[in-house]
Amino acid sequence: MRLILLGPPGAGKGTQAKMLMEKYQIPQISTGDILRQAVKEKTPLGEEARVYMDRGALVPDQVIIGIIRERLQKPDCKRGYILDGFPRTVVQAEALRETLAGMDSSLDYVLSIEVMEEELIQRLSGRRTCKSCGEVYHIIYGPPKRDGVCDKCGGELYQRDDDKEETIKRRLRVYQAETSPLIDYYKGRGLLREIAGKGEIGEIFERICQVLEGG
Ligand code: AMP
Repeated sequence: MRLILLGPPGAGKGTQAKMLMEKYQIPQISTGDILRQAVKEKTPLGEEARVYMDRGALVPDQVIIGIIRERLQKPDCKRGYILDGFPRTVVQAEALRETLAGMDSSLDYVLSIEVMEEELIQRLSGRRTCKSCGEVYHIIYGPPKRDGVCDKCGGELYQRDDDKEETIKRRLRVYQAETSPLIDYYKGRGLLREIAGKGEIGEIFERICQVLEGG
């Protein structure tokens, strides 16, 4: 199964992608996670990306397209994958289409998770991420057992620079301007499925599974 999870920052793409990964045994490919890892390791990619990420801006298309092309060649993608946070522009979507065509492959579905803006701000500003393993918590909706400590690995939790309120607002504007046109792009290709992003994480997951299993 080859899927894209589309939706504004804070829609829950990462959480749903991890659940889909377990259920269908296919990798989650998150360009945000790949970039954060590169920033942490201070690689040349990380140094370049950090400047954009801290501002809430998009990393240039050509950089991201290169990363995804390489990633999709890996053997674990043979049975499918979940793209989380990619594509984010029409240029990236076109590059993906060409890359897949070159591999004799194509997408099955694009799932668009829909959430109101006020709720996104509330969700993102309460988000805390583990410095060591990347696990995500929410101070109200999904707190860790011990304040500031990851349940999974004991790592320290922090607030991503781009989860601070000013940057969140910028990221939402960037989403509206650059990424939301992809909804029509994929609708026009018959691939889009809309998922209501309201409610419990498990309920949203159920809606996704119904779409995937119901065709
Ligand atoms: P995310 O974790 O998906 O919200 O991504 C965090 C940040 O990484 C974004 O705000 C962008 O700066 C950058 N980023 C992640 N994916 C992409 C992409 N497909 N295109 C451009 N920038 C990206």
